Amino acid sequence: FAKRSGRNNFKFYTENMNSKFMKNLDLENKMRQALKNEEFYLEYQPQVNTVTKKIISCEALIRWKSPEFGTISPDDFIRIAEDSGLIIPITRWILEKVFYEIKKVIEIDPNIYISINISGYQIKHSNLPKMIEDVLDQEKIDLKHIELELTESMLMDDILKNAEIMSKLKDLNIKLAIDDFGTGYSSLSYLKKFPIDKLKIDKSFIDGITTNEEDKVIVKTIISMAHNLGFKVIAEGVETKEQFDFLKTYNCDEIQGYYFSKPVSIEKIMEYLEENTFNTNLMNSYYNPIH
Ligand code: C2E
Ligand code: MG
Ligand code: MG
Ligand code: MG
Repeated sequence: FAKRSGRNNFKFYTENMNSKFMKNLDLENKMRQALKNEEFYLEYQPQVNTVTKKIISCEALIRWKSPEFGTISPDDFIRIAEDSGLIIPITRWILEKVFYEIKKVIEIDPNIYISINISGYQIKHSNLPKMIEDVLDQEKIDLKHIELELTESMLMDDILKNAEIMSKLKDLNIKLAIDDFGTGYSSLSYLKKFPIDKLKIDKSFIDGITTNEEDKVIVKTIISMAHNLGFKVIAEGVETKEQFDFLKTYNCDEIQGYYFSKPVSIEKIMEYLEENTFNTNLMNSYYNPIH
């Protein structure tokens, strides 16, 4: 598959950049303060079953609203958090927050789970299974309600070690997904070495599925290959009915994107779950501000 992350890297240095933010030489301290001052918060984006349109899970996405810089995209600050090692306490904070909030959500839907993004730095430089067990001592939950998203490129970095960490996570009953699938250079035979539950097809492929022949073929191929390997497949960044219909035709299991909902507060997720399903009629007026 084509390597597309280069495009994102370019974006990082241009349009996404809040120059006042990027020029600040004291970012690490600012971020450390932000963690203390509770300037970070989480939003959640539904992952919806393509056939039933019921919410299966939600992805937790970090937000930073700084009094000094305004709203900063995670695409910008996560990288700095990784470079400074601050991603480790930030991830710990995310785990604590999600373990706490999931308890309220389970009361509405006992099968729901929440996906948490884990960066490569975290896997490399910390003991993630241990961190999870520590957080569990504080916030007792059943870990079947947690999924971790690891990117494809990060897994290929050290296949043996990562496979070992993943099997430890699986022993804790955690679900595992491969994020941004198609943007790294993974070999299919290696994918089988990892105890993966789900592949998330990167948005850059979904963007083209109604217009670009190559993207159509790639997406169809990823779906059938994933199913052959026993993984579920979710498409990221689905925005239109045409994209949804294509993915449904080719048996993509789940959908995540503005078509159903932007990332929202946990309270909003609970409202969605009370409704139990994305009613396509309601969606236009209530669920989805862009339609
Ligand atoms: P990701 O994990 O691939 O998350 C999906 C991104 O696509 C999110 O951007 C989400 O808001 C956006 N998205 C979802 N559906 C649509 C759509 O239909 N249209 C469009 N245009 N965008 C859509 P977000 O929240 O800005 O996050 C960007 C990236 O930052 C994430 O990509 C992830 O790599 C990283 N990130 C976000 N939160 C965390 C976190 O808590 N920890 C770590 N380590 N990384 C995070
Ligand atoms: Mg993700
Ligand atoms: Mg992704
Ligand atoms: Mg991404």
